Amino acid sequence: MSSRKCVALIAHDEKKADLAAFAKVHEHVLAQWRIVATGTTGGRVQEACPSLDITRLKSGPLGGDQQIGAMIATGEVEMLIFFVDPLTAMPHDVDVKALMRLATVYDIPMALNRATAEQLIDFNHP
Ligand code: PGA
Repeated sequence: MSSRKCVALIAHDEKKADLAAFAKVHEHVLAQWRIVATGTTGGRVQEACPSLDITRLKSGPLGGDQQIGAMIATGEVEMLIFFVDPLTAMPHDVDVKALMRLATVYDIPMALNRATAEQLIDFNHP
């Protein structure tokens, strides 16, 4: 496994285009990170940024959020960029909350919207 630090990328459906656009703008910076992403999000970001090497986990509703939570608990994921949709009910809301809880427990930088992600990407270097 690479020694580069690892960032996890996730976006709810209504925010996937926004995350892909964010990733495109910051492609050169993201290229310095190891990247994991939930399944569908990872596909969208990969399409927008062919140069990035993205490890795609399961789709969020099928366990991807929990996989990322486990990687935070083991220290493998050191930053979380999660573009959440606050206007849509999610069947996997409990998984989303559990993920945010672990990111808080382990005190990793966590951006839940684009404005914060813009700050994190500039101030955290792998
Ligand atoms: P997805 O999962 O990237 O597979 O859509 C994200 C989520 O909704 O948690």
